[in-house]
Amino acid sequence: MSEFGSEFDDGFGGDPEVDEERPATDDEPAELVYANPLEFFTDVLGPSYVREVNGGSEFVWCPQWYKHVEALSRVETIWRAWEYLRIEGALGLSAWWLNHADPHMRMLMAPNGPFKKCIYDGHTPRDRPELLCLPHAHPDRDLFS
Ligand SMILES: [Zn+2]
Repeated sequence: MSEFGSEFDDGFGGDPEVDEERPATDDEPAELVYANPLEFFTDVLGPSYVREVNGGSEFVWCPQWYKHVEALSRVETIWRAWEYLRIEGALGLSAWWLNHADPHMRMLMAPNGPFKKCIYDGHTPRDRPELLCLPHAHPDRDLFS
């Protein structure tokens, strides 16, 4: 039990004094706490970033974030970093916040980020070709041969 009691969750998926954590080895990776990015978002990431969003706030968010390729990739990245760093001792949580969660969430929650079109009326599908990829003109010759 943590010093804060059971009322507060540290976001690391359990009490290290109670859980039997088995560190990863070269032959066998540590077991995952969450099966996928959606479970991780629901239990850890979403409750960790409580902000006023949209409606003129400095932060934006789309409740259907998983429909945005960039958001799904970044949340999966944050989840995988959390799974790795959760067993990295005293500085694991700090490294996760500073080096993984905050930089990716700052990009996702930026007013000019991937949710820019979703902030007033909910999720807006980005199905026009110019919204699916950065502009790209294929080169006339193969640059990598
Ligand atoms: Zn959206």
